[in-house]
Amino acid sequence: MKKILCFITICIMLFSACAKKEEITTLETIRNRNLVITGVKQDAGIFGHLNKKGEYEGFDIDVAKYIAKKLTGSEKNIKFVPVTSNTRIEAVVSGEVDMVIATMSNTDSRRYIIDFSIPYYTAGQTAVVKNKSKIYTFADLRNKTTIVVMGSTSEQNLRRVIPNARIVGYSTYKEAFQALKDGKGDAVSTDDTIIAGFIAENKEYRALKGRISTENYSVAIKKTEDKHLQETLNSIITEMKNDGTLKELKKKWSLI
Ligand code: GLU
Repeated sequence: MKKILCFITICIMLFSACAKKEEITTLETIRNRNLVITGVKQDAGIFGHLNKKGEYEGFDIDVAKYIAKKLTGSEKNIKFVPVTSNTRIEAVVSGEVDMVIATMSNTDSRRYIIDFSIPYYTAGQTAVVKNKSKIYTFADLRNKTTIVVMGSTSEQNLRRVIPNARIVGYSTYKEAFQALKDGKGDAVSTDDTIIAGFIAENKEYRALKGRISTENYSVAIKKTEDKHLQETLNSIITEMKNDGTLKELKKKWSLI
């Protein structure tokens, strides 16, 4: 009897130790290690790129640093992990990163898999073509080849507007824009934010007028019952709106 009781006690102790371990939230993990592991883009131009010194730079990078400062006391307590449109959900779900800040639209279908903060920026989908191209509107893309990046919202949006669109997909924006330059397609379609960065460096290209979607950028985190991290991020973003940070960042990155 004593042996059984002892066994049961050990089991209870082990079980509660395991349960406690599971209770450690992403927010606690961040605070314990004093480091925020953030998935960001290298291929999103003014929203995320590597500068000549090999450092991450861009609107999303500044948002990530602000959040790291609020969570840990210093914007230096951040480790950037490169993600692409196609790898960012897996990076969040697997726990490789604590959060993703990567031109990521907060959509209904993505919300089945991951959680999002409130939006910190609103973009819209357009397309970029050569200045001398005869394409002026999305309707003109009907019998043309449009390049998109896999894992982005752009393909679905394009199919909604042009049901029989001829679409080719690439893994990164770097590859997509290179394919456009190489004549492998007539246009690249994605958010105006990413296209603005490309045009700034490639004056022989222009964006189409008009937007075919609204893209609300939010911070992506792992789906969990515990809403503490999500609520904390929401109040940090609200603070960024109220203290003028988001407005300043728009100016800094020539978005207004
Ligand atoms: N914002 C869109 C998305 O989340 C397109 C840009 C991107 O590929 O990140 O899919």
